[in-house]
Amino acid sequence: MSSKLIVVTGSNKGLGRALVRKLVVESKGPLTIYMTSRDSSKGMSALQEIKSELPTGSKVDLEFYPLDITDKQSIHSFTKHMEKMGTPCIDVMVHNAGVYFKGASDYAHAEKTIRCNYNSTIELNDAIMPLIKSNGRVLFVSSMLGNLSQYPASIREEYLSETLTVDQLNQLQEKFLTSFKEGTLKEKGYPSDSYNVSKTGVTTYCRILAKMYKDDPRHIFFAALHPGWVKTDMGGSEAPLSLEEGIQTQYYLVTEPLQNLKANGLYYSNKAVANP
Ligand code: NDP
Repeated sequence: MSSKLIVVTGSNKGLGRALVRKLVVESKGPLTIYMTSRDSSKGMSALQEIKSELPTGSKVDLEFYPLDITDKQSIHSFTKHMEKMGTPCIDVMVHNAGVYFKGASDYAHAEKTIRCNYNSTIELNDAIMPLIKSNGRVLFVSSMLGNLSQYPASIREEYLSETLTVDQLNQLQEKFLTSFKEGTLKEKGYPSDSYNVSKTGVTTYCRILAKMYKDDPRHIFFAALHPGWVKTDMGGSEAPLSLEEGIQTQYYLVTEPLQNLKANGLYYSNKAVANP
């Protein structure tokens, strides 16, 4: 059996690390998992901890590569490294890395949030798309905080437009930032939290991507997902879900046989398609 390759961004802690751990413990392999994180020492120590849990005789190989998704050079270096394994080489790409500056209400943090969670995720995805194998999967860890129900109908319709392109989606995200800068969020009907808008962008991007690749001979499966509100550094200690509970939907979308995952480009919550 040929070995599968899974990449998880931001996997030094939280949901990313927990997903890798579950895959390691439960997979029979052969499987290679690339853990990536912006801080090499944190990433390597997470890798060593998980490696110590590898069952005897496990056919799972754990690798690490430093990847800061907001750094173009880092994306380039990661892509070049993966290319050495062959093009294509990735079976499952999990875009998990993200930021949430709790309590920050200034423009600088709003921009940082949109750039990291939305723009950088797309830039990384653009770079790795040629590396996705036939019947591969590309997953985006989004959030229910990006749900379209929080917007007025006029904005909702823009995001839901069947003809929306990535360029136009980029413009919608910029419109939010402009409104933030001008102090007109309330008047225009935007949420005050840039994190929400960043995740609206991610979920919408996933839907557009599936359309863009619908005739691609590789038959790639795309999904955005909400993990639930989970106890992590980001989710906080008051979150109701444990890490084990919070990775159920990711784990399902990584491991479920593809014939059971027909709804391409959609948004999942609790292992089922949900309203974006
Ligand atoms: P954590 O804060 O625990 O982990 C976030 C991860 O993303 C860390 O590994 C962090 O690295 C990494 N990261 C941040 N910025 C970058 C970057 N520029 N390049 C590479 N990695 C980066 O949060 P969670 O585990 O909770 O979050 C994981 C994902 O789940 C996120 O996308 C989040 O938005 C989403 N999510 C989480 C929910 C929750 O309740 N926890 C709810 C809904 C969605 P570092 O350690 O260096 O900061």
